[in-house]
Amino acid sequence: MNAPLLQMPLRVERDIFVLRQRGREVAAAVGLEHQDQVRLATALSEVARDLLLGVGGADVVFAVAGAADGQRHLRVDLAPVRALPDGRYEPQSGAVARLVDTLGVVTVEEVTVVRMSRRVPATAQALTSERLAQLRAQLGKSSPGTAEEELATQNSQLIAALDEVRSQRDELARLNEELEQTNRGVLALYHQLTDELEETNRGVVALYAELDEKSAQLRAASESKTRFLANVSHELRAPVTAIIGLARLLGDSASDPLTSEQEQQVGLIRSSASDLLALVNELLDLAKAESGRIEPELTEVDLRAVFGQLRGTLRALHTGPEVELVVEDPAPPATVRSDEVLLAQVLRNLLHNGLKFTTRGEVRLRAERGTDYWRLVVSDTGPGIPAELHERVFEEFYQVPGPTRVGGTGLGLPYARRLVTLLGGDLELASAPGQGSTFTVSLPADGT
Ligand code: ADP
Repeated sequence: MNAPLLQMPLRVERDIFVLRQRGREVAAAVGLEHQDQVRLATALSEVARDLLLGVGGADVVFAVAGAADGQRHLRVDLAPVRALPDGRYEPQSGAVARLVDTLGVVTVEEVTVVRMSRRVPATAQALTSERLAQLRAQLGKSSPGTAEEELATQNSQLIAALDEVRSQRDELARLNEELEQTNRGVLALYHQLTDELEETNRGVVALYAELDEKSAQLRAASESKTRFLANVSHELRAPVTAIIGLARLLGDSASDPLTSEQEQQVGLIRSSASDLLALVNELLDLAKAESGRIEPELTEVDLRAVFGQLRGTLRALHTGPEVELVVEDPAPPATVRSDEVLLAQVLRNLLHNGLKFTTRGEVRLRAERGTDYWRLVVSDTGPGIPAELHERVFEEFYQVPGPTRVGGTGLGLPYARRLVTLLGGDLELASAPGQGSTFTVSLPADGT
């Protein structure tokens, strides 16, 4: 333990002033800040008053001690001249304990003392033993002032403390005001955001309602278009068939002979009527597919049989010697659960297109089996279709403009896609100008 910095008795009222004064002096000497000097001095005079009145005084010892936290503390021990009642000490003013870091009763070498301490800030000059010796000498030399001087000092300290309290109060009021303003701002922002959100919501709801209405209108329009197509096609079929029949009759050898010019004209009527009938039939097919009146009949379809049939019918049809039709036989077992008639119709349509648009090279049909699907691929070495038209060719009546256009109605691909959708699959196109076209029909192997 360090030797005491200062010792003094507390016996009469005047000693309280002296103690207070010396307390502040010691606190300043070890490096406590001004506020802490006043706090310690105030706590000391309070405790001194209690002890003087309670037990008739004490012997006071100032010392610097190290603490468990490695910090230095200014420690003041007040050893009462008479034993403390019950060996305990309670300050009259409860606030005293708050002015110092520790305040309590301890027993030092069998003597009970009231001990208070205050931490010396780390920024203070290092309290080496030489420095402490120096302080001890310095404190020993200085003599305490009078009670009046101490009172004057105390007064000026009180004024400074009051000033500080007032400025803290003003600062607090300012902070409060700021906080309130911020709160009001946040609240206003919140309201604004809520309003905006509500407005957006209303907009979205209105938009949805409009969308619903539009899609209902679209559905209705599409249905009436389908009905119209079906009716017109149906109504046209009978007269067109009649025209073809009549034209055939006119050209029949059993009828009156025709001049060669008449024969040519009747031939034209017949071929035009046949084209018209083909268009009417395709329109009728498409309308039927769109109105959902085609119901696929699912059976176990043998792809090898379907491919064989297509090979036969299309070979008879296609004439160009520079185009080869290749139908690859899928390896057995090659069955798919599907509607055989509709599937054959789709593949025939795609192969027919390939043969129609390809002038050199080949048109090929092959099948690929995946884990749970089949891919039926129709590829050709024809002119190809630019990427931006890949979806358009599936629109009704659309035909790619340009020199490659060869007859047709523009209804084949939309119809094929409808049918593939009905069969639970999809129809995709990969193509580029000059690179040929590849149409791929993907079907679930089990038809679901
Ligand atoms: P159509 O063949 O009766 O004109 P489709 O609906 O079958 O009608 O085809 C639409 C258009 O797509 C065709 O007119 C043609 O321009 C283009 N097309 C279809 N298949 C091919 C193909 N294999 N190669 C190049 N173009 C094609």
